[in-house]
Amino acid sequence: MKIAILGGGLTGLTLAYLMKQNGLDFDVLEKGEECGGLMKSLRTKEFTFDYGGSHIIFSKNKRVLRFMLGLLGKNKIRRRRNTKILYKGRYVKYPFENGLADLPKEENYECLCHFIQNLIRRERGEVEKPNNLREWCFYTFGKGIAEKYLIPYNEKIWKYPSQKIGLEWVKRIPNPPVEDIIKSSLGITTEGYTHQLHFYYPRNGGIQSLIKSLEQKIEQHIITRFEVKKIRKEDDKWIISNGKSEKVYNKIISTIPIQELTKAVNPPKKVQDSVCNLKYNSIISVMIGLDRKRINRLSWLYVPDRKFLAHRVSFPSNFSPNVAPRTKSSLLAEITCNVGDKMWTTKDKEIINATVSDLQQMRIINESDVCLADIRRTEFAYVINDLDYHRNMKTIRDYFRRVGIDLVGRFAEFKYLNMDDCIESALNYLHAG
Ligand SMILES: Cc1cc2nc3c(=O)[nH]c(=O)nc-3n(C[C@H](O)[C@H](O)[C@H](O)COP(=O)(O)OP(=O)(O)OC[C@H]3O[C@@H](n4cnc5c(N)ncnc54)[C@H](O)[C@@H]3O)c2cc1C
Repeated sequence: MKIAILGGGLTGLTLAYLMKQNGLDFDVLEKGEECGGLMKSLRTKEFTFDYGGSHIIFSKNKRVLRFMLGLLGKNKIRRRRNTKILYKGRYVKYPFENGLADLPKEENYECLCHFIQNLIRRERGEVEKPNNLREWCFYTFGKGIAEKYLIPYNEKIWKYPSQKIGLEWVKRIPNPPVEDIIKSSLGITTEGYTHQLHFYYPRNGGIQSLIKSLEQKIEQHIITRFEVKKIRKEDDKWIISNGKSEKVYNKIISTIPIQELTKAVNPPKKVQDSVCNLKYNSIISVMIGLDRKRINRLSWLYVPDRKFLAHRVSFPSNFSPNVAPRTKSSLLAEITCNVGDKMWTTKDKEIINATVSDLQQMRIINESDVCLADIRRTEFAYVINDLDYHRNMKTIRDYFRRVGIDLVGRFAEFKYLNMDDCIESALNYLHAG
């Protein structure tokens, strides 16, 4: 029984590692020159940047967290989150509902008042249950927090109207306790999203060091530069081709984006249409090195204001001092877009210049301190749960289940899966199989 694992990102490599432990025979087929997918890190001029987007390690799932930390061994640092939202020129503590006292008094009052009024109306059954992200923001937080931060930020990152986004993603966000909102408004410290309050990061090598550690354990099973282009079944065997050579397997587990798999399998039109209708967005990472030992003490900064390109700016040299030269610091600005749109087709140089100018306007950097600027684009970054998501995914899942190709991982399952969720998916898959 020989198994093909399509894709050498975190999910593919975790599956491979677990299979090896279970004595199974398999290959990992990866199209890139190296493995890692979204978790690749660029090393340049003594800087290290996670160019698939800023990554940190955290999880509610203790077993999975142990698994990730075990992969890093001694190569890890624990940090306490120090994250802010740039709101009308001020730094507001993250999450926004825990930082109300940082707002101008009038706006703080509006947020608190709307939250409480909304809560009372909800208790009386006067507020209808939400059907989309926009309604959920109002339903959960009231008008103030929804309109000032949640809706603008979400629409900026998703590049999609909030009334057309479903509730898949928000299900895991707990309702904020009213006590916390009152405390936050009065300036008494509270923390939200607490399972991420402390996070880990590799001391050396950026987030790709997690990948490298997995790779070392299964090296002889990885075939890179093998882009899966065609898949067909002959008798009970799967034939996988990259356009130049063919490989034969008894079973396929796919971790590559469902869009890529569909191209290779050529399913009925109904399935192809459902895949075409799935929504996702892409990311442009602008990586900046600065000729300053420390620019601030922030972990990362959310930027809801649309006049700035990036929705988030992170500060990797505050995660680990070893990702920048000793006398320098670094930041990474993330911009979401869609392949082929105006942002995606803008020249690299123009995006870098505009980002540097934004960062200067935000008073985060001085342009004269920039000693390195680079950019990378990633097509598959975020799954968008539009309102047709469940219908489309049912058609797709039913089809692949029927033909016998298993889907595991962020863009294969087409779900908002973080690293810990991907590992959990791989563990569950092996456990069930
Ligand atoms: C901006 C951003 C920030 C994130 N931050 C965090 C964070 O802080 N913490 C966290 O836990 N998670 C974070 N994540 C999520 C995390 O990156 C993913 O959960 C994880 O990397 C997904 O791994 P994967 O293997 O499922 O998919 P991928 O990483 O997408 O891997 C898929 C692999 O398939 C390969 N492939 C594609 N097509 C083919 C083909 N035709 N043939 C062969 N190979 C192919 C690709 O090259 C790639 O290597 C973040 C994600 C993004 C986008």
